[in-house]
Amino acid sequence: MNKKTRKLPNITILDEKNKKLRMISKEVTFPLSKEDKKNINDMLEYLEMSQIEEYREKYDLRAGWGLSYIQIGVPKRIFVLAQEIEEGKFKRYVVINPKIKSASEEMIYIGEGEGCLSINRPTCGIVPRHARMTIEAYDENGNKYDIRVREELAVGFQHEMDHLDGILFTDRIDPKNPYKDQEKYRSI
Ligand code: ZN
Repeated sequence: MNKKTRKLPNITILDEKNKKLRMISKEVTFPLSKEDKKNINDMLEYLEMSQIEEYREKYDLRAGWGLSYIQIGVPKRIFVLAQEIEEGKFKRYVVINPKIKSASEEMIYIGEGEGCLSINRPTCGIVPRHARMTIEAYDENGNKYDIRVREELAVGFQHEMDHLDGILFTDRIDPKNPYKDQEKYRSI
């Protein structure tokens, strides 16, 4: 892709106040519609651009690397992640109808706190997540695959899988004691 022609996809990300974010998303059937495929691509493009300073400033974006379909208002069990693996280079994940096959006992949390493109306010507190997981899912072409995720990527998967069940990361933080049981988990 010619970087000079990159245009910000026209997607609207719902804010946490929108009740749609509380919906339980539905299993997806294949083949996906053209519209679904376009939306998946748009979400990934948006995430990548939000992580590139030039575009982030130009379009006044917040950086994010994961989005669930419900965040653009569609209650289908689809999420995407665009993880920067080196400067300006991204690994894209398209995850449809994910199921947890196994999860580590060890729990971790993001030391600086999780973030979400639907939560537009400062937050604090820790969200315990499994350090490693094996997930079964489908790609946009309906191919089934297994993926082993760990550390940051495992947190990303769990954060997005929560969205599919109408859960926001802030739900997992006790407002009275946001750092509760911190010593039981490993910070990453
Ligand atoms: Zn989120």
